[in-house]
Amino acid sequence: MLSEFDLITRYFNRPTRHTVLGVGDDAALLALTPGHELAASTDTMVEGVHFFPDVEPDSLGHKALAVNLSDLAAMGATPKWTMLALTIPKADETWLEDFARGFFALAAEHDVDLIGGDTARGPRNICVQIMGEVPHGRALRRDGAKVGDDVWVSGHIGDAAAAVAHLKGDLRLRGSLLAHCLARLNRPAPRVALGRLLVGVANSAIDISDGLIADLGHICERSAVGAAIEFAAVPCSAELMPLRGQALVIRAILTGGDDYELCFTAVAERRSEIEALSGQAGLALTRIGSIVAGEGVEVVDPAGKPMSVKDGGFDHFR
Ligand code: ADP
Ligand code: MG
Repeated sequence: MLSEFDLITRYFNRPTRHTVLGVGDDAALLALTPGHELAASTDTMVEGVHFFPDVEPDSLGHKALAVNLSDLAAMGATPKWTMLALTIPKADETWLEDFARGFFALAAEHDVDLIGGDTARGPRNICVQIMGEVPHGRALRRDGAKVGDDVWVSGHIGDAAAAVAHLKGDLRLRGSLLAHCLARLNRPAPRVALGRLLVGVANSAIDISDGLIADLGHICERSAVGAAIEFAAVPCSAELMPLRGQALVIRAILTGGDDYELCFTAVAERRSEIEALSGQAGLALTRIGSIVAGEGVEVVDPAGKPMSVKDGGFDHFR
């Protein structure tokens, strides 16, 4: 049986690229680039709450880091360091190897060092912390939206929630549509490059983890404004398009979480610049509405009628 220390050495002690001192001491040591602020965030994933018990460990390793990278993307920060607090029921070597493969493949893609963590036995729970850098005073924040701003989203949304609906038995997806939606749920691609490009361009940003309405609602609340969104403008994938009229899919698009796209606001004068960024980031960027005086997020249908959307998004305590 692996000891805790063998486990850490074997699976989680990897060479670092930009860290003074990583795994092995009581604390890691980091040196910040002068002129930058430290951006830090953490996200916990609990079995049965954030992931299905039978999800591939490789995907879980990917996703645990991806959701954290997404938070730094939404700040316009460059991720550099991560910490992993892992609670697992037993030292299952096949599981650990697969989990570490998914985690480190994404870490390598984003040039992020794993610099420490904690390991304990118990019900499966994965807590990842991420740290990165952003030039002083330049972070994208939730509180910068201004009345008149355009509201944009990256990529397309709804696929991950459609996959969840399928896994819960509420929606039936098949073949390539199912594969597409499951990949979007289990292996999200954090929009780090886009976030960095939006520094100095966007007035506010958030990543869509709890659903478009809920997350845009956070921007509105922090910025003391409202938002008016046209449902017809909200981009969904070509794969999901044939189902776009179904009530459950409308809900997935507007209130479904787990897509990890970015939602951001910017003044109208920036439109052509943002369209050019879309090419640079290799990612569709779509204008879905605007920031208005008032509060809350209103969605209108193609006839201009307000759509009533129950259940604004995912909330653990409601
Ligand atoms: P402490 O007794 O100070 O809590 P630990 O014995 O838990 O230290 O951990 C020893 C070293 O291994 C520390 O540097 C810690 O950051 C690192 N570490 C522990 N678990 C993990 C993990 N799952 N991934 C990466 N590093 C880890
Ligand atoms: Mg410890």
